[in-house]
Amino acid sequence: MKFANVIIDQDAKALDREFVYAIPDHLSVKLGERVLVPFGARVLEGFVVEILNETTFDETKIKEVIRPVDGFPVIKSEMLALMHYMKENLHLKLASILRLFLPSEMRTGKVKELLVRYVRLRNEDVILPKNAKKQAIILEFLKEKKVAKFSDISAEFGYAPLSALVKKGEVEVFFEEQKRAVAYDKISLQKRPLTPLQQRALGTIRQNKTYLLHGVTGSGKTEVYMNLIERVLEKGKTALMLVPEISLTPQVLANFKARFGENVALIHSGLSAGERFDEWRRIFFGEAKVVVGARSAIFSPIENLGIIIIDEEHEQSYISESNPRYDTHEIAEFRRKYNDSILVLGSATPSIESYSKALDGEYELVEMPVRVNGMEMPKILIVDMLDELRHGNSEIFSIPLIAELSNVVEEKKQAMIFINRRGFSSFQRCRECGYVAKCKDCDVSLVYHHYENKLKCHYCGKRYRALDICPSCGSHNIKQGAIGTERVVEELKKYFPNVPIFRMDNDTTSQKGAHRSILNQFREAKPGILVGTQMIAKGHDFEDVILVGIVDADQSLYQADYRSIEKTFQLITQVSGRAGRSKQQGKVILQTYSPRHYVYRYAQNYDFKGFFKKEANLRKVTNFPPYTKVLRILFSHEDENIVAKEIKVCYNKVQEVKERFKDEFVYLDVMKSPLNRIKTKYRYQILMRFKLNKAKEIENEIFKCVDEKAKSSVFFEVNPNNLS
Ligand code: ADP
Ligand code: ZN
Ligand code: ZN
Repeated sequence: MKFANVIIDQDAKALDREFVYAIPDHLSVKLGERVLVPFGARVLEGFVVEILNETTFDETKIKEVIRPVDGFPVIKSEMLALMHYMKENLHLKLASILRLFLPSEMRTGKVKELLVRYVRLRNEDVILPKNAKKQAIILEFLKEKKVAKFSDISAEFGYAPLSALVKKGEVEVFFEEQKRAVAYDKISLQKRPLTPLQQRALGTIRQNKTYLLHGVTGSGKTEVYMNLIERVLEKGKTALMLVPEISLTPQVLANFKARFGENVALIHSGLSAGERFDEWRRIFFGEAKVVVGARSAIFSPIENLGIIIIDEEHEQSYISESNPRYDTHEIAEFRRKYNDSILVLGSATPSIESYSKALDGEYELVEMPVRVNGMEMPKILIVDMLDELRHGNSEIFSIPLIAELSNVVEEKKQAMIFINRRGFSSFQRCRECGYVAKCKDCDVSLVYHHYENKLKCHYCGKRYRALDICPSCGSHNIKQGAIGTERVVEELKKYFPNVPIFRMDNDTTSQKGAHRSILNQFREAKPGILVGTQMIAKGHDFEDVILVGIVDADQSLYQADYRSIEKTFQLITQVSGRAGRSKQQGKVILQTYSPRHYVYRYAQNYDFKGFFKKEANLRKVTNFPPYTKVLRILFSHEDENIVAKEIKVCYNKVQEVKERFKDEFVYLDVMKSPLNRIKTKYRYQILMRFKLNKAKEIENEIFKCVDEKAKSSVFFEVNPNNLS
């Protein structure tokens, strides 16, 4: 008798371990298979994560596996290893990890293979009664075609004669699976000679390790990726390419389909359930050799990986913020090591963290500092909006922006207008002098909480009075809130009533295929203007876009996040990179209320290295990552007394850890979360920062501080994006 260690596919904390079941002799149950098992009075689904030849449990008390669910092991051995890694390092529940590895459609059983009904002749020399004319036509047709879809024949020649033939047994009906095809734009394959910089990059990226490809926007990174993938395919291996947002994938997918054809599978959240299910199985069974997808594609069951590429590696969307929390880089690093393959992190603006790893030698740095066409980077003009105000212009658009837009319209070219919107929290700003309130202790911007009319620091929890008078200049003209895309489109229409203006944001892209359709319409519109949020910032390659307008650059600058300046630099560089990608140098108009902020100076000069130095130094001095780790433990429960009590117990234990690692901690406190109640649950948090020397050790100690039996739900987050 064999035994199986099974993880029950349920959320309950008490079930978060392996349970032993016996495998009855008549069943074949394999490692990684899903099975049905009896559990108490119920029958539940579970995953077999180990097969044992014996057990220390009393065999007479062990229940038996009822049956396998799918008939093949859905979790491959690499993913089992990854599960153990994630359990140990990210402290996630086993079931919630395993769920990441399967399309949810599969677990709910709601989606099935798409089976298509076909017909073919069973007998070539049928003798039909004279009056069966239609049947005769169908037979002639099938003699020629051999096979046809049931529905086609029935539609063309009638259902009755076809089913009569089937009934007589002259025509055979059979089913075949049809994979649902993901829609993409067909473009012709353009294979061009590589530039010397591209060749150099390809020459360098050869060893099985991690590379940071730092290439300016328009330096032709995609072409490098495709050549790397080609090389890997030639060796009989496979490739995984991640892109940050689905708005990017229409173009990327079109390129990849043109180059690699049916070898490409696509995984992202914009697919229909059926498409996702089919793409996943194409990958699982080795039909697809190249996977292109968003964050979740890092878990695709592709085997024999030769290369993993993370494009726009600095993007925050690579970090999953909701449960289960993980960082795509870390998972990619695991898979790279497991497969002994190459990992490429590509960006025009690498994250401070990745770039410092490159400088430390953990990654190898590969640089492409010049655009493919040799064109200079777009010229960035910084417009001081306070100055505009002083000159009587209180509109959304500055005078230079309107002037440049008029030029674009006249030349029948294209422009993109970028609205910087993120999150629902906001800061308060003096409209006279540009003053923004900051925390005295943390040097991050305070967030305005409308409900309580208070300013709060999201790092230390300190509260401040909301501004009514500017402490810097005494003005009462305090403003908060952001401009929306809709407003911008309305205003633009007043200036340019005859120009097609497109809007791309969460509202206009909620429907399937909407991204592709908006982008395709914009591509044809000359002149044309595309207004959008972060969605239009990256990846797009429109050769006639010669102007980019950034309406409110400061929006991301004053978020309560130690990375907000870094994010602003990245955004400006990315958005600016959309302009002047072809024959004409581009222009960027950047509107700001803080024109003298250093971030704009570095961005204006495309001085990534200068910016990195300045920013890294600031982080070092203020003890923020990558020089420390920020760890947040978030407790939530409907009963406030329970959260408060449980977090106190945890906090006391964390304090003991801090005592033991006195020199390592730079900050520790417990507080209500800035957003104290979400979806009827009260939220409290413990926040800490500690140095890196003993970080792993401390982290492990901290994880032990949470009582297994706590009633609250508990989340750990390392270097969280959002502290609200
Ligand atoms: P990045 O991703 O670095 O911003 P892209 O990969 O989008 O840059 O390339 C910018 C443009 O240059 C694209 O239009 C691409 O087709 C073109 N391109 C890339 N490599 C070459 C090459 N070797 N010769 C000519 N054009 C190229
Ligand atoms: Zn603070
Ligand atoms: Zn002021």
